Amino acid sequence: MQPLSYTPRLYPFFADLRGRTVLVVGGGAVAARKIAALRSAGAQVLVGAPVLEDGLQAMAARGEIEHLSGSFRDGWLREAWLVVAATDDRAVNRAVAAAAEERRVFVNVVDDAELSSFQVPSVVERGRLQVAISTGGAAPMLARHLREKLEAQLDESWAALTELLARHRQRIRKRLPEMAARRRWFERLLAGPLQALLRQRQPLRAEHALLAALSEQVDEKARGSVALVGAGPGDPGLLTLRGLRLLNEADVILHDHLVSAEVLALARRDAELIDVGKQAGAHRNTQEDIHALLLEHARAGRRVVRLKGGDPFVFGRGGEELEFLHAHGIDCEVAPGITAALACAAYAGVPLTHREHAQSVRLLTAHGKDGDDHLDWRALAADRQTLAVYMGVAGLDRLRARLLEHGRAPDTPFALIENGSRPEQRVVIGTLAQLPELARAHSVQSPALLILGEVAALAESLHWFGAPPLTAPHGAADGLQLRRA
Ligand code: SAH
Repeated sequence: MQPLSYTPRLYPFFADLRGRTVLVVGGGAVAARKIAALRSAGAQVLVGAPVLEDGLQAMAARGEIEHLSGSFRDGWLREAWLVVAATDDRAVNRAVAAAAEERRVFVNVVDDAELSSFQVPSVVERGRLQVAISTGGAAPMLARHLREKLEAQLDESWAALTELLARHRQRIRKRLPEMAARRRWFERLLAGPLQALLRQRQPLRAEHALLAALSEQVDEKARGSVALVGAGPGDPGLLTLRGLRLLNEADVILHDHLVSAEVLALARRDAELIDVGKQAGAHRNTQEDIHALLLEHARAGRRVVRLKGGDPFVFGRGGEELEFLHAHGIDCEVAPGITAALACAAYAGVPLTHREHAQSVRLLTAHGKDGDDHLDWRALAADRQTLAVYMGVAGLDRLRARLLEHGRAPDTPFALIENGSRPEQRVVIGTLAQLPELARAHSVQSPALLILGEVAALAESLHWFGAPPLTAPHGAADGLQLRRA
């Protein structure tokens, strides 16, 4: 095989083995376990081994499996679609693997990922419903742990539910031929009492509930809607449960560039993802383009999620979008998110307010529609308060000048947090006097949030996430001080 420059994932698939021949090499307890599983999938099992353990021997005598006796020969593979090597002799397993490779038949060598061309996942089974788990051989204990968790979580009603739905599958498809409508109906159905009835062993009442739901007047022309959802600053753990539910129900997701890949990975697999923050060539989606897209998808009856970094109503233009959608009569809702100021403060160990250091906090950006001319610099420069400055990386020189001009002390501490809450988070700390130089010295990039105020000094002792805060490079502090004078 060609060596690959990356670690590829296994390709998962469920194989239909009914009536197909599978060769199992080995006649002991391990082979017996594998054979039981293969037979329950309907496979025709050939077992090759010099001797068989008692159970297998009995099965062979009853004609349920066929015994090939003696030591392994390539010819055993002739009829096989799959091969399982379950001997305790590595040389034999190796020979089986080589022969399978040669004949292009997939082989699993029990407990030997290296010799295997397919792996058997850990499985949670509820009747016909199967959940398969694999770590690609990387951490079998983890797969086991997860399997146990799922075992506890998925009660027996899932088996009955699978059967009930299988029985009515054609009817449901006929009644709701359109995929999106079917999915909506299905979500409504599962939100109802159906599964509780199955859990209470009331299969007839459950079936009635399903049929009743199916005969209800189906809302043919689905009403589209838009949810403005805050994705938080990056760590997917900071997404709200409501945001997660909306992501799971969305047909279309329009997201910003700031939304992390980890959050996007939580969206429904078949939702259409549109990156409206992306610059395609010279073209960048304007706010008007985004409005038009929201309207177009909602009017087509889709459930649209407008997913924004942080919170949609904090420097996120969510207000404008909501106004626009309201004016066009679209159903809307808003799910807040953890805004960058809160997340960066928490992940840098900087309490935004503190009884001893700051009695108020202000969120601001120096990038307002008409520049920062409307900001009340005198008020912003007051001490014992915290400023959280968004979109500030480019404007730090001006910010420092204005604040010093209006009386903020040059030794006011700051913490500048780049990629807050993400694995690559960096925090730079220092004083207002050093601010732009330090940001340049560490080449801080967007997205970064500035926290300025007495509380920022606490980052040095209270940091807990990622690397410790960066300070002035050695010997540079004096230079920075000089430049201030
Ligand atoms: N609606 C967003 C803000 C959008 S404005 C919110 O509520 O957080 C974009 C600015 O937010 C960036 O320039 C940066 O200042 C800040 N920001 C967003 N995510 C950030 C993150 N993970 N780390 C640091 N700053 C972030």
